[in-house]
Amino acid sequence: MGTLLIRNAWLDGRTTDVLISDGRFRSLTAPSGTQADKVVEAAGMALLPPFYNTHTHAAMSLLRGYADDMPLQKWLLEYVWPYENKMTRQDIREGTRMALREMIRTGTVFFSDMYFDIEETIDVVREYGLRAAIGVTFVNSHSKSQQAEKLDMLRSWNDPTGGRICLTVAPHAIYTVGPELLVQCAETARSRNLKLHIHLSETRGEVEDCIREHGLTPVRYLDRLGVLGDNVIAAHVVHVDREEADILAERGVTISHCPCSNMKLASGIFPYKMLHEAGCRLTLGTDGDSSNNNLDMREEMKFAALLAKVGSGDPEQLPAGEVFDMATRAGAEAFGIDAGVIAEGKRADALLVDLHNEKMQPCHNLLSNWVYAADSSAVDTVICDGRVLMEHHEIAI
Ligand SMILES: [Zn+2]
Repeated sequence: MGTLLIRNAWLDGRTTDVLISDGRFRSLTAPSGTQADKVVEAAGMALLPPFYNTHTHAAMSLLRGYADDMPLQKWLLEYVWPYENKMTRQDIREGTRMALREMIRTGTVFFSDMYFDIEETIDVVREYGLRAAIGVTFVNSHSKSQQAEKLDMLRSWNDPTGGRICLTVAPHAIYTVGPELLVQCAETARSRNLKLHIHLSETRGEVEDCIREHGLTPVRYLDRLGVLGDNVIAAHVVHVDREEADILAERGVTISHCPCSNMKLASGIFPYKMLHEAGCRLTLGTDGDSSNNNLDMREEMKFAALLAKVGSGDPEQLPAGEVFDMATRAGAEAFGIDAGVIAEGKRADALLVDLHNEKMQPCHNLLSNWVYAADSSAVDTVICDGRVLMEHHEIAI
């Protein structure tokens, strides 16, 4: 891996040259005249950390606009699952490719995925140069031999990219995975030092069914099974009480908040204030293109900030700087990626954001503009692990 020089970028209130080598930020104040294998001119652009999307289903880009404006269970049972039953491996490859191009275009360098035929996803991620935590999905309806195959895959996995891709154990949800398989997933994840990615307490119906079936709410149920721990990434977590928030905080669970999907499916209002006060680890995800209907994390930041204010009746909740941190540093940290901030020694993931873009002016407050005003057209260049994935709006592949 060679060296990359970003020239004349706006960083922390001044113009500077930034040198990247071996995939890390070597100097944020490179002397003028520094040579590099590749130079990106960044005059008039801010160097910012990119996005880390902690919950999505990349290949579902194929279902964008296929079924809208209905509740989650109807959407899943009558539209999504029948559609997915007809999808081929080639479909998944093409859907993932579309999703990855969308992610790069909108400034995302990492996603935590949950889908099937993941060999296709892995291939496309390698091709495009992003980072990913790819879920090996478990559901009750898989045969024993399918489940054994998945466990085998987890056991024999070797990251072909040397650090950009990891696998996660992904039991879909408590309503699609029985207690025995949940426990098996948790044990597999723990023994292999892997993350466990699950949908949790997404709808009121899920909570009511869980109480009816197990006599407990979903968080308490998973805690009783011994599933919850600091390797767990729980997507949604909309319907929880304060005691459950404390359990999640105590166990060190990472929550992936997906405001657009929750609002579009009318799943409910994410209790940001309560979870934040309980000390939960909060990150941001888009969910799939079929319930969002895009993978634009910048948009997700704005919706998260607005929803936190509406949900609590308090305009001081989730200010721009905090939601930016959720979408960047906190997401990277949750997956053990040594990135998410622009700092010497960190892995070199970054965006160049065009400060001349109409929605970035005037610049009273850069982060305020980025969270509340901009759109992804301001993303000029995307860098992941020291490699340029998009340069001046041109995606490298
Ligand atoms: Zn999801």
